[in-house]
Amino acid sequence: MVPPTAPTRTKRRRGEGQWALGHREPLNPNERSKKDDDGLNVRARIETIYAHAGFDSIDPADLRGRFRWFGLYTQRRPGIDGGRTAVLEPEDLDDRYFMLRVRIDGGQLTTEQLRVVGELSQNYARDTADITDRQNIQYHWIRIEDVPTLWERLEAVGLSTTEACGDTPRVVLGSPVAGIAADEVIDGTPAINEIKRRFIGDKAFSNLPRKFKSAISGLPDVAHEVNDVSFVGVVHPEHGPGFDVWVGGGLSTNPMIAKRLGAWVPLDEVPDVWAGIISIFRDYGYRRLRHRARIKFLVNDWGAERFREVLETEYLGRRLIDGPAPDVPAVPVDHIGVHKQQDGRYYVGVAPVAGRVSGSTLVGVAKAAERIGSRRVRLTPQQKLVVLDVEESEVDSLVAELDKLGLAAHPSPWRRATMACTGIEFCKLAIVETKARAATLVAELEERLADVQSTLDTPVSVHLNGCPNSCARIQVADIGLKGQIVTDTEGRQVEGFQVHLGGGLGLDAGFGRKLRGLKVTADELPDYVERIVRRFSAQRNDGERFAQ
Ligand code: SF4
Repeated sequence: MVPPTAPTRTKRRRGEGQWALGHREPLNPNERSKKDDDGLNVRARIETIYAHAGFDSIDPADLRGRFRWFGLYTQRRPGIDGGRTAVLEPEDLDDRYFMLRVRIDGGQLTTEQLRVVGELSQNYARDTADITDRQNIQYHWIRIEDVPTLWERLEAVGLSTTEACGDTPRVVLGSPVAGIAADEVIDGTPAINEIKRRFIGDKAFSNLPRKFKSAISGLPDVAHEVNDVSFVGVVHPEHGPGFDVWVGGGLSTNPMIAKRLGAWVPLDEVPDVWAGIISIFRDYGYRRLRHRARIKFLVNDWGAERFREVLETEYLGRRLIDGPAPDVPAVPVDHIGVHKQQDGRYYVGVAPVAGRVSGSTLVGVAKAAERIGSRRVRLTPQQKLVVLDVEESEVDSLVAELDKLGLAAHPSPWRRATMACTGIEFCKLAIVETKARAATLVAELEERLADVQSTLDTPVSVHLNGCPNSCARIQVADIGLKGQIVTDTEGRQVEGFQVHLGGGLGLDAGFGRKLRGLKVTADELPDYVERIVRRFSAQRNDGERFAQ
């Protein structure tokens, strides 16, 4: 591995700010900030200064930069509309409270951990908790004074917020049913745990060009096509179960589907190969322009063949084994409903609306699971929740109890396949509201489209983003909605959405078409979705999916 402070390649030419080519001088304010002080160093200042002296004592460079290395963003000040009525400076948007992201690698929680996560929300976050599409939990209304206590309580049960945000290796996605699914190729959990143990909080990887998103799963259930690096379960004809490696996927602006390296990696080598790939990103990633800094741009320029060659020759010192591609699921795998485990027991996947739960709900889930003898719960990349290890005799009572908590094991297709990002309620980048709008939309569609539901083999997915970023993966939804200000029929500037149609993962992997002019106001949204789903339902052939 190449140490970050001693690049071996010093050839200098105008480039993209790649360390490996000798560009060590910071080329923009973000790079300067990271060079001035490692983001991981901010924890000591929070614990010894800011938590005691309060919000006003926080250095702005820490507040808007390094706090992210521990999952902290200032949340949006209530009542600020995103610049429609005034020109805003960044500090105009800052509330004195924080969003705090708890990383939950692989989405794996014991019921004890879940209870602590829920209780902390009740005590310190005004009972807020959102399940994100990266299997994290996000709190809101966090005071800086309470952050050390939150860390202490989380770390006492093996959880953390370290590198939950920032230019770092973020949470590693994993199959929610790792180790128990009857159709799993291989359990990736040991590799996820090893990466977390060896590399999270390691200063070798705490100054990356941008964020780095990873996924490791024995099933195609972690949106592997749109992660920076993914290891997807596959059986090699000679070597048996292992992982197929994908690099360079990502959404936001310039979305790209990841490329296969054509390499098969056994479970125990995944952490080293992961370290090699993230090292390439650190050393060769583009640091000059932040909007071109994700690894997808490097992979796109190099191609998979050169990327693999550099990985093998400069970082691993050996050749990887060629391997086959994994099976592609015809329909999205979301683990909702009641399913049999390998051991004969069951897992129960339930759907809140667009990931919104509360601390009280999470405590309720922990209690409900423990009452029927389960000690394990998982979060999913679809903003859902799964209780594992349920005896057959307890399934019905658990389903009923979770239903009372607002978590449906047999949800309508609209609740099942709707996702939403944080939106303008708390996110400073947002242009429009999303979570409440998703809840309204789901309720409306359940009522309006009850007659159509049974004609759809798979749910039509609807994803809502509050801005051009893609925290709810709009480009790979059947109906993707990108928040923006639009003009209504009376010429007013109102909240609305640019529509992307026909995106998908798996067999339908590709990005939805963004049709210029296809915009809807927020008020028109239920009418629009109803219209488009009715038309699809009326015209589709048997087995035809929306994205086809
Ligand atoms: Fe915020 Fe935009 Fe991400 Fe939504 S998509 S959470 S509005 S940055």
